[in-house]
Amino acid sequence: MTVRVRIAPSPTGNLHIGTARTAVFNWLFARHHGGQFIIRIEDTDEARSRPEYTQNILDGLSWLGLTWDEGPIFQSKRLELYRQAIQKLLDQGLAYYCYTSAEELQEMREAQKARKEAPRYDNRHRHLTPEQKAAFEAEGRKPVIRFMIDDDREVVWNDLVRGKLTWRASDLGGDMVIARASEENAIGQPLYNLAVVVDDIDMQISHVIRGEDHIANTAKQILLYEALEATVPEFSHTPLILNTQGQKLSKRDGVTSISEFQEMGFIAPAMGNYMALLGWSPPDATQEIFTLEGAAEQFSFERVNKAGAKFDWAKLDWLNSQYLHQMDAPQLLELLIPYWQAAGLEFDPVSDRSWLEQLAALIGASLTRLPEAVDMSRIFFTDSVEFSEEAAQRLQAEGASQVLQGILDAINDLPQLSADEAGQIIKKVTKEQKVKKGLIMRSLRAALTGDVHGPDLIESWVILHQQGRDKIRLQQALIHTPTA
Ligand code: GLU
Repeated sequence: MTVRVRIAPSPTGNLHIGTARTAVFNWLFARHHGGQFIIRIEDTDEARSRPEYTQNILDGLSWLGLTWDEGPIFQSKRLELYRQAIQKLLDQGLAYYCYTSAEELQEMREAQKARKEAPRYDNRHRHLTPEQKAAFEAEGRKPVIRFMIDDDREVVWNDLVRGKLTWRASDLGGDMVIARASEENAIGQPLYNLAVVVDDIDMQISHVIRGEDHIANTAKQILLYEALEATVPEFSHTPLILNTQGQKLSKRDGVTSISEFQEMGFIAPAMGNYMALLGWSPPDATQEIFTLEGAAEQFSFERVNKAGAKFDWAKLDWLNSQYLHQMDAPQLLELLIPYWQAAGLEFDPVSDRSWLEQLAALIGASLTRLPEAVDMSRIFFTDSVEFSEEAAQRLQAEGASQVLQGILDAINDLPQLSADEAGQIIKKVTKEQKVKKGLIMRSLRAALTGDVHGPDLIESWVILHQQGRDKIRLQQALIHTPTA
């Protein structure tokens, strides 16, 4: 059997992390089996669907590297297909026009509530006579179309994550609406369960992989597959993503869309890796860092948890930092440039490339999220620095002035400075002035960076030297130091 799976987002919002994680599982499963991964945009809800959300969803999936083999297929372009299926159900007597008004439905629910029964449609218009229909039409009622659900049925399937699942059809809420209201003998807008089934049949989907909040829909959909005389696919219901309190992660929890994670400076491989871990673990459970391609080789639903997956910011941060720490400088630089530019830092990405790459390598080792790079590297983009109180104090230390002057003399006419040469200069000044190396390092850091801590001092110096900024700063610092 060819594996064909799909992700079917509704473009009523930006790509949500839950949808993206479901897309990851679909993609991993498809790639594991050499199958196809398809994108279907479920945009039949005209009022809530927006093209910019479709764009955001497609951009997010591309960013994550979830390449697709077919699509995007838009449901809004396939309405005729759904109408045909609904007509078939009507012709076979498996669906019917229902004229029950909103007030009648409300009364029905209240009566059920009073009897402490679960709300359901009582199937009252299943067998209307032509005269009854005509009377409702004359009243101006517009009918919906309902699909008959046999209350005596049990729906059973073998879920790839949850094992055998059984639903009593009597718990499905009565005959279900499959198309919205329209004129008599016309078919209104088809609803989710019907359109999904028609599409999954038409697109020969072999495995439906989606969040566990769809389990009740699956029971209804299986009845529709049967009515449409189609093969029922396999189903796999993945665990929900939970917040730290153990509730379903929602907008109230703050950041939930992939584009927001991207803006916060998480990078795609870390995000993909993290989402795969939200509910799945590789056979070697100690392995936490992997590419999606690597995960695809090992992926199976046997290792997907039934229990909800708690979203863990610390873990995501940790993974992101791991990826950033091991990224090579040119690649990291490409990611950092937009952040530096947005912060208004001045540089030329072409002519400054050499020192920018060194800077990327220098700060890459301590980055967790990309935007942190702005504050970490600000001092490399200006000629002078402001001294922090502690740094200014360091410059007051006895001997600071002489060592800084010694360094300034040593670099004055030096066109290039390597890390080795920087080390030599420090040694030389230590020896000549008979001072402790610590004094030099502390004074130099204060002078060059205006601070008392920061990234590797020698590397920082080497970078600053390329723009002649070390000289400017040493001169600036010397103004602040007491002369002997
Ligand atoms: N449009 C549905 C959703 O976004 C698709 C669910 C499904 O995969 O069937 O939840």
